[in-house]
Amino acid sequence: MKKIAVLTSGGDAPGMNAAVRAVVRTALHENMEVYGVVRGYNGLINDELIPMDLRTVSDTIHRGGTVLFTARSPEFRTEEGIQKAVATCHRRGIEGVVVIGGDGSFRGARDLTAHGIPCVGIPATIDNDISCCEETIGYDTAANTVINMVDKLRDTSQSHDRCSVVEVMGRHAGWLALTTGIAVGATSILVPEVEFDFQKDIVDKMKLTAATGKHHFIIVVAEGVGHVDELAKKIEEVTGVESRATVLGHVQRGGSPSSRDRNLASHMANYAVHLLEEGKSNRVVAIRNNKLLDFDITEALEMKKPFDMDMYRMANEISI
Ligand code: ADP
Repeated sequence: MKKIAVLTSGGDAPGMNAAVRAVVRTALHENMEVYGVVRGYNGLINDELIPMDLRTVSDTIHRGGTVLFTARSPEFRTEEGIQKAVATCHRRGIEGVVVIGGDGSFRGARDLTAHGIPCVGIPATIDNDISCCEETIGYDTAANTVINMVDKLRDTSQSHDRCSVVEVMGRHAGWLALTTGIAVGATSILVPEVEFDFQKDIVDKMKLTAATGKHHFIIVVAEGVGHVDELAKKIEEVTGVESRATVLGHVQRGGSPSSRDRNLASHMANYAVHLLEEGKSNRVVAIRNNKLLDFDITEALEMKKPFDMDMYRMANEISI
């Protein structure tokens, strides 16, 4: 393989730049030519490609977001859109594509591979919801952002004897809520994977905590559970504790990637380029037990990642 392309797609995640950088540097090391595709699959459809050299990715490893921009591309989900993307690859002589993104982007990579352009996926999403992979690029940085923000909320909740109800990202996945909830010492953690009982999981726990002398509370709620304003109001009505809702929102997607995310991105990207070089396609890179490995994208998309109920129980035991 002599010419490849790299793109970032779907929701952005801190560390995507470190991954792009390592794809470019590895490809050049292996004497390949490499193009950066602008705005995800749209860039392939519209032939927006930048030739990348060593210096194109200078000063990007520490930056959040993605220098290649990202996009959601409804057109790529049509046969006509894919055909345009394939035509761009043929015209430019691109023999393989590294796709940095989440599940949606991997579905696109699977389709592009099926149309004759070999693809390899690298999991980057702050939700950590890629089933075949223990940890995704961006998750660690987002978790650190959340705990920084919630630590600030804790200061003011403590001063006023308040309850802080904090919504963190995760529409379908409660990983970010669970691990940050543990890290900030939340009284309760609400996730989409586990049904909660308002009385038992919130009110009773707050009363028990108050009876032992603590009068401020943090409730971490995953986005998928939602309704934090209503929840805060209800908590205040039932417990008499002044309660405030905070939605952290898109701040969680930004910021300079952590050491862990920069390392994960660099390792995965290097591995991905070597996979293409070896002639492998329709693969997604993953990390398990600190080891890099790869799975067939189609199989990876069908895998399930069970929610860690042991961790959830542990969080409950120490949240008093
Ligand atoms: P993420 O990669 O973060 O999960 P999206 O779900 O928005 O983000 O997907 C990013 C892009 O991948 C979409 O805009 C689309 O172009 C492509 N894509 C998503 N789902 C599919 C699908 N089922 N089939 C083909 N392509 C898809």
